[in-house]
Amino acid sequence: MKPLDELVRPNIRALKPYSTARDEYAGGEITTWLDANENPYDNGLNRYPDPHQRELKRRIAALKGVRASQLFLGNGSDEAIDLAYRIFCQPGRDNAVSIAPTYGMYRVAADTNDVELREVALGADFSLPTDALLAAADERTKLLWLCSPNNPTGNAFPTGEIERLLREFQGMVVLDEAYIDFAAEPGFLGRLDEFPNLIILQTFSKAWGMAGIRLGMAFASEPVAELFARVKYPYNINGPTQRSVAERLTADIAPQVAELRSERERLAQALAACPAVERVYPSDANFLLVRTAASDRLYDVLIAAGVIVRNRSRIPGCAGCLRMTIGRPEENDLLLQTVQNFRP
Ligand code: PMP
Repeated sequence: MKPLDELVRPNIRALKPYSTARDEYAGGEITTWLDANENPYDNGLNRYPDPHQRELKRRIAALKGVRASQLFLGNGSDEAIDLAYRIFCQPGRDNAVSIAPTYGMYRVAADTNDVELREVALGADFSLPTDALLAAADERTKLLWLCSPNNPTGNAFPTGEIERLLREFQGMVVLDEAYIDFAAEPGFLGRLDEFPNLIILQTFSKAWGMAGIRLGMAFASEPVAELFARVKYPYNINGPTQRSVAERLTADIAPQVAELRSERERLAQALAACPAVERVYPSDANFLLVRTAASDRLYDVLIAAGVIVRNRSRIPGCAGCLRMTIGRPEENDLLLQTVQNFRP
């Protein structure tokens, strides 16, 4: 990895972040809050939330076994994806590398920020093209996007290959672990201190079942986490979100994750036996990528049955593929029945 100072955009290095009304307050017995031009009448929402999300970060850090100072919280992990470009990539000048196919927001955020994104096609059976990813990088490559387990292919990449990229890539490696709770292997969070160029993204939208409240996490070295804190909007996580996630962190998500994984295996086996299905790709996520003989027609038939899946058949590398999220058992039954009865 290059020195962090060489990777960060000069304007971000020099940035003096916005200081909120409460930043200068060092604690003490305040009874009367007249500093932030809020409405004084309590309705549960009239005060600004903690801009640093201290209590929530303390609890998440304890749960994840990291230091709170290594954590950035965003409005979904989508916020962290956008901020990574804004911190590291000079528009019109720097570039990023990603695998393809992968999660679409790496492309959208690159285009929004006027940053060139170099996509490297996955290998046979969606294998990680490690050498080609390294070869695609040059002096101006700041970010490498890896999604593992990958969306939409569903597979997790081998630990040794990811390690090699972390060691040999000269910029920041953003490892998106949105689906890690459904995977067989544990992911890289426990090894954060080993790799100063590692940024791990996780989310409360999937295994935690809180897509509606929009909370994503980025884990990184302290200097990198501080850069995210510097460029974010002051109050990027609203009060109800901070409170409701803090309250739900004691929930045991393991039984639900186990059921979704077992449903995934049941569905994978049953779908593989359907006449219209050519291939069910192995999945470490809460969805299956399924190649079918007539994807557009099957998609329409599913819609007519009231079931919507994601048609990925026009994405390079995914011809004929539908991506099917694992639902509740009865929902999976309806999906399965419809696919079983479909004749290509
Ligand atoms: N990363 C991946 C790989 C995803 O598939 C998604 C959502 N589909 C996200 C990130 C975004 O998650 P969030 O809801 O935290 O913004």
